[in-house]
Amino acid sequence: DLPYKYNALEPYIDSTTMHIHHDLHHAAYVSNLNKALEKYPELYKKGVLELIQNLNELPADIQTAVRNNGGGVYNHSFFWKIMAAPGTAKMSPHMEKVLIENFGSVDAFKTEFEKAAVGRFGSGWAWLIKDSAGKLRIISTPNQDNSLMPNAEVKGKPVLTLDVWEHAYYLKYQNKRAAYAKAFWNVVNWTEVEKLIGE
Ligand code: MN
Repeated sequence: DLPYKYNALEPYIDSTTMHIHHDLHHAAYVSNLNKALEKYPELYKKGVLELIQNLNELPADIQTAVRNNGGGVYNHSFFWKIMAAPGTAKMSPHMEKVLIENFGSVDAFKTEFEKAAVGRFGSGWAWLIKDSAGKLRIISTPNQDNSLMPNAEVKGKPVLTLDVWEHAYYLKYQNKRAAYAKAFWNVVNWTEVEKLIGE
């Protein structure tokens, strides 16, 4: 379930998009992941995080299905969690300081993140991740990949993400992905992001 109402992110992310995105797209990843595991019922015991972190150890015939659908399950659950109703989870002075330390300024951080979102060719995600040295980095991944997968170009712990698949924004923003990325700042759950960075 979403951690808020379908219309909670209005007007920046509309209720209809949230219904379609959560009830149809996200649900399809869940159902297709379950289908992929049918041949290997012992894998149902593992959580989705454990499955995607150990993709290369899974039976070869389901690796792609688990990468795409397990990634889809993990990424969407994470995405819902790092958003909140406008104005309800603002950036704290400490969070601001962390972004300044890592990116020079909050504006520089936002510009770089938006660039990653807009620059991702085709479908994928923009991310803020914390690498093994504790440094924050902005990356993007294709399809349903993320920085926890063993094949990731850049590895690290996700702390913020933006879904840039067209299904995430097309109804409201059509081809204007940049406008969607800018509007996203109004619904970021900075309390959650700060907590994830601190963990
Ligand atoms: Mn999506």
